[in-house]
Amino acid sequence: MSLRDCARGTIVPAVGLVLYVASTHVAIGQDAQARATHDVVKPPHCTNNKGQTVRFIDRDGGRAGPAAGMARRNGDGEPVVFRSNYSATPPDYQRFIDRHECAHHQTGDVDRPHPPRNSPEHLMNESISDCVAILRLRDEDGYDRAAFDRVAAAMRNEMAKIGFPEISISSRISNIDNCYTKYGSPKDFVNGVLKQRGLLQP
Ligand SMILES: [Zn+2]
Repeated sequence: MSLRDCARGTIVPAVGLVLYVASTHVAIGQDAQARATHDVVKPPHCTNNKGQTVRFIDRDGGRAGPAAGMARRNGDGEPVVFRSNYSATPPDYQRFIDRHECAHHQTGDVDRPHPPRNSPEHLMNESISDCVAILRLRDEDGYDRAAFDRVAAAMRNEMAKIGFPEISISSRISNIDNCYTKYGSPKDFVNGVLKQRGLLQP
């Protein structure tokens, strides 16, 4: 059974998400026009599927642009998350991006071949990372329904500013709402993904 089969019915149909992702492993935040400045939050604990600690690296550098994260291995092969322009987006959404990027390490995406941009496989990876992110906020950070609504509002605001169509925005929010409402622990969810991929460590 493929991962897509496993997730069918639990993740929103990929077609609604086709336009929301700019590139693999990148979560987009707010546009540069606003120039809002927020305090940058402390990164969460993050360990990849091989038990390696993931390091978060801020790359603001004074360059205006949307808040974004990128999960990858650096030149030395260490698992990292690059955080760009986090001060451009509110703390709730910074936390969401951190956990979304961490999820790409937790689920092994970073060490797997990149699926083609906007392919169903790519969109599934993004939906999974969104799901892990909101489950961690719910279970580890105590995000209640009001806090969920703040994350969803920030997501909506920032995607709209960048020009994503309503269908992409509402599909993405519907996915995290479904995860938040119906799913169990983030650990169980990640283990389910790893099991489907044959990556679950004994
Ligand atoms: Zn991503």
